[in-house]
Amino acid sequence: MSATAPKPPLRVVLCAPRGFCAGVVRAVDIVERALQRYGAPVYVRHEIVHNKFVVDSLKAKGVIFIKELSEAPPGPHPVIFSAHGVTKAVPEEAKARNLFTIDATCPLVTKVHREAQVHFKRGRRIILIGHAGHPEVVGTMGQLPPGRVTLASSISDVKRLEPDDGRPIAYITQTTLSVDDTREIVAALKARFPAIYGPPNEDICYATTNRQEAVKAAARQVEAAIVVGAANSSNSQRLREVAEREGCAAQLVADERGIDWAALTNVGSVAVTAGASAPEALVERVLGALSARYDVTIETLTTTSESMIFPLPRDLREPA
Ligand code: SF4
Repeated sequence: MSATAPKPPLRVVLCAPRGFCAGVVRAVDIVERALQRYGAPVYVRHEIVHNKFVVDSLKAKGVIFIKELSEAPPGPHPVIFSAHGVTKAVPEEAKARNLFTIDATCPLVTKVHREAQVHFKRGRRIILIGHAGHPEVVGTMGQLPPGRVTLASSISDVKRLEPDDGRPIAYITQTTLSVDDTREIVAALKARFPAIYGPPNEDICYATTNRQEAVKAAARQVEAAIVVGAANSSNSQRLREVAEREGCAAQLVADERGIDWAALTNVGSVAVTAGASAPEALVERVLGALSARYDVTIETLTTTSESMIFPLPRDLREPA
């Protein structure tokens, strides 16, 4: 394109809701408040949320991200557990080592942990629908002794489950799954185990559900979709898949530098959304990059509004 050539038109449908959820806001606030109250360094086990921009900004303020508790020294500087939750063994190890800890696990993940414990106490076989290796899944499975939770990620996994052994059976789910895929997996579970116990509406959280609904509605109106989010963010990956299933050429980008411009050639309309761990600043950078190349008109498509707020731990409620 020459410097004087007019920019091609592009209709941008901005999804709402998008971006930060209440669990991510709370987790990031916990780290910020801990820095104010206890001073740097503050240790965070695992990425506090799955977003490099957020992690890098916190590093710049004095946060040290660690993989294992053994990397944190005892003393007045807290170790914070990420929003994804941890296995039971982690706080136990922290206690044994006299570490000062703060739990930033999202309350909606904690709710799933409690469901697992209730099913276990009632002697039920427990099936967890989720993705192997995701920290939330590791944390949820780790609420119970090894071998007591069976992971099912697909309908084929459901088919491979051991037959009914007379014990009652229950399912729980990861919070950030595809609503549509999970519905199919639950249907397969119910077909095999008609008396299976489960939560009324799966355990997929409100933020995951709302973001998927918004991108699905937008994707029906456009040719392409850009999802702002990290490659290791489960809910961001699901947004990309939902848009693709609606026939959009969808791309997941960490920020504007990741945009595949070739994929937007001859595209006249694009949906833009962001995963629950992606800050709005990155959405603005993507919109800025689109505006630099196209004559952009932006319309917001709002499918629902959100008012969820999770309170901070008591000790951190007042600013230092
Ligand atoms: Fe909590 Fe859902 Fe946000 Fe995860 S995506 S932190 S479960 S509100």
